[in-house]
Amino acid sequence: MSARTLDGQALATRIQQELVPQVEAFKATHGRPPGLGILLVGDDPASEVYVRNKVRSGREAGMRVDLQTLPATATLRSTLSAVEALNADDSIDGILVQSPLPAAMGPDAEQQVIDTIAPAKDVDGFGVASVGMLVQNRPTLVACTPSGVIELLDREGITISGQHAVVIGRSDIVGKPMALLMLHRDATVTICHSRTRNLAEECRRADILIAAVGRPGMVRLDFIKPGATVIDVGINRVDDPAVAASLFPAGHPRLETFARKGAILVGDVHPEVGAVAGALTPVPGGIGPLTIAMLMKNTLKAAQSRVAEPVAG
Ligand code: NAP
Repeated sequence: MSARTLDGQALATRIQQELVPQVEAFKATHGRPPGLGILLVGDDPASEVYVRNKVRSGREAGMRVDLQTLPATATLRSTLSAVEALNADDSIDGILVQSPLPAAMGPDAEQQVIDTIAPAKDVDGFGVASVGMLVQNRPTLVACTPSGVIELLDREGITISGQHAVVIGRSDIVGKPMALLMLHRDATVTICHSRTRNLAEECRRADILIAAVGRPGMVRLDFIKPGATVIDVGINRVDDPAVAASLFPAGHPRLETFARKGAILVGDVHPEVGAVAGALTPVPGGIGPLTIAMLMKNTLKAAQSRVAEPVAG
């Protein structure tokens, strides 16, 4: 058996296309496009790529996207001031501060930034108000990566209700909201993490296995119930030839890419899993592009909510 590929890139493109007329309609009704303010602090190369993709995606959907950059030497105070200015700007509906912030800003800088974003503009869904609403299964802006996973499962016709879902990872941005979304869709949910005993055994119970760990190829064949749906959220840069060789057989095209570029992006799921899973997301081209598409959906949703309830922020 060979797993069906769940093409996140294709779905992201479709979502983008669906957004265009909705953004047009918003513009026609309200005389302005939905606005997304992105703040990039420092010069992390991966962040620059992510931000470039987000700017392009928003503009292609017809939104206004303002990108503001601050140097790596910027203070936390100046970063918070930039967020406050975006909060006060009525033409901005969504605010995204690209993670990670420079380490020099201190360990709780990200939290302070998240706490400063107006809840109505929290298109990343990381703020306490958004998370609280999610816990109570009330309408809110939900973190983009886990909502992208739900969107993919739904559009691929994969049943969630009654299924046993196992989420590996309990981060605030992926694992926890993912588990909550699956729970709200009536899955029976197990959350695994670095202290979980018998991880492979827990995962083998999954009808839907979602890996959000950050370890290349960690999910092996013995983690998989035959026919399970496997969602690979991990995006890991591999630049060690030995690690690359442990993931792909000799002569595999990905190894040729590795030889040419010196690095490749891989997921948390070992490619061998494709032999037993029923369906599998690729990396790249799986959940990554969907995350950006969901950010654009959230921006439109925030814009629609703000014009309906302008006092909300
Ligand atoms: P994170 O904050 O580092 O969390 C990783 C989680 O994995 C933690 O809960 C950790 O457990 C758990 N873990 C680590 N080692 C483990 C092990 N050996 N066995 C079981 N669990 C283990 O990472 P994150 O931000 O959630 O991101 C996870 C991955 O998703 C990364 O590769 C990241 O790049 C990727 N990601 C992708 C997207 C996208 O757009 N597709 C978006 C966000 C993140 P503890 O809590 O016990 O430490």
